[in-house]
Amino acid sequence: MPSNAADKHAAPPAPEPLRVPVADSHTHLDMQSGSVEDALAKAASVGVTTVVQVGCDVRGSRWAAETAAAYDAVHATVALHPNEAPRIVHGDPDGWSRQGAREAGGTAALDEALAEIDRLAALPHVKGVGETGLDHFRTGPEGVQAQEASFRAHIEIAKRHGKALVIHDRDAHDDVLRILKEEGAPERTVFHCYSGDAEMARVCARAGYYMSFAGNVTFKNAQNLRDAVAVAPLELLLVETDAPFLTPAPYRGRPNAPYLIPITVRAMAEVRGIDEDTLAAALGSNTARAFSYPR
Ligand SMILES: [Zn+2]
Ligand SMILES: [Zn+2]
Repeated sequence: MPSNAADKHAAPPAPEPLRVPVADSHTHLDMQSGSVEDALAKAASVGVTTVVQVGCDVRGSRWAAETAAAYDAVHATVALHPNEAPRIVHGDPDGWSRQGAREAGGTAALDEALAEIDRLAALPHVKGVGETGLDHFRTGPEGVQAQEASFRAHIEIAKRHGKALVIHDRDAHDDVLRILKEEGAPERTVFHCYSGDAEMARVCARAGYYMSFAGNVTFKNAQNLRDAVAVAPLELLLVETDAPFLTPAPYRGRPNAPYLIPITVRAMAEVRGIDEDTLAAALGSNTARAFSYPR
């Protein structure tokens, strides 16, 4: 095979290690190739010593909770992804929920899945409820009702268990902010893969919401994200990979993993005009505070 074709899909090289350790506040190890051990070792070798493993459906949430129980470096969050909730109600759900939907059907299947998320959310290694929220990009009008009901239920679960809420907001800023206000946001709320602009960052800052930036902050066309990084309070900034998605430039399109966090940290430090150690120290303690785990 010509080496160019191989390179396009190969794992990017490890960046220069960070001197101050940080956490990847949002990753999907279960969607990445290779073992959990290798992913954690590779991440730790560049200063990414902690990861938050995010559940997107019942099966993935169970896996996240088990993995967090098995590894000190892993914390879990559990949820039905905003695009998963309508699938459970309307059929075509993934994995575990397929059987549930066939047997129970409609909103009963959603209730059943939510009850399992509620049970998992009580576990000590589960530090957050999410990713939940709204996705107007992938879910059409027919799924809006189920998505909203699921989001509201997750907010209630997070508050009842005193866990962080992890928000997935795709093309739905106003509705997400409105529903958070209507329900009353949990004490600790994280906008994962923050996708708003500077103005929304000011709204989030006033509400005390954490803003977690992913590799797309390095994309040429993402000036709105860099503007948001610039105005967000330092104590509300987080960094994440959302791996295997959103690989930072110049490796866009290649597989992402927690060990690539330093690239995004450096891009954020440059935008804020601060040195990377200062930013990394803030990111490390912010993530521990957001998800309430000891450092
Ligand atoms: Zn997401
Ligand atoms: Zn995600």
